[in-house]
Amino acid sequence: MNAPTASDWSGGWWRAARACPSPNFGPRPEGTSIDLVLLHSISLPPGEYGGSAIEQLFTNRLDWDAHPYYQQIRGLQVSSHFVLRRDGELLQFVSCDQRAWHAGRSHWMGRDNCNDFSIGVELEGLEGETFDEAQYLVLPRLLQAIAAHYPVRHVAGHEHVAPGRKIDPGPGFDWPRLMASLGWPGSMFPSVA
Ligand SMILES: [Zn+2]
Repeated sequence: MNAPTASDWSGGWWRAARACPSPNFGPRPEGTSIDLVLLHSISLPPGEYGGSAIEQLFTNRLDWDAHPYYQQIRGLQVSSHFVLRRDGELLQFVSCDQRAWHAGRSHWMGRDNCNDFSIGVELEGLEGETFDEAQYLVLPRLLQAIAAHYPVRHVAGHEHVAPGRKIDPGPGFDWPRLMASLGWPGSMFPSVA
């Protein structure tokens, strides 16, 4: 595979991802530097992999009565720029030029509201569990593509920008492996290695 370039992008959409447009987004504040990639984990229902519920949630089509857990999130309107499935399939829901709704109340290096300046990547998974081989292969390619088009300065987890409130992607995510795959400076990552 050739090195990612800016021409792999169209209006904030990465051509290598399957587009599933979500209505859950808004404009970023004017002049925002999109310099943080936030990693999350999600599975619906929690711990069940392979279904279409994440896609349905992010496009406001989830049947809240389809599972008891959904009562806890009934009416939730959220999104992420990307979702990376266990098998390596990559979906994109929101243009990276727009503000997706994945971080909530959050803080990173002197700035609040990480949704304003971050790109959200949801890994299909569960906090505390491990992630799949295909995800570790595709995630670095995605991050390299993002960095070819946006001035990425840091990669962090939801747990790092909302400590005490969020715990994803969790201890099962192999940060050293991601760092080694990318070869980026350790200062771009949370101090987890
Ligand atoms: Zn999260």
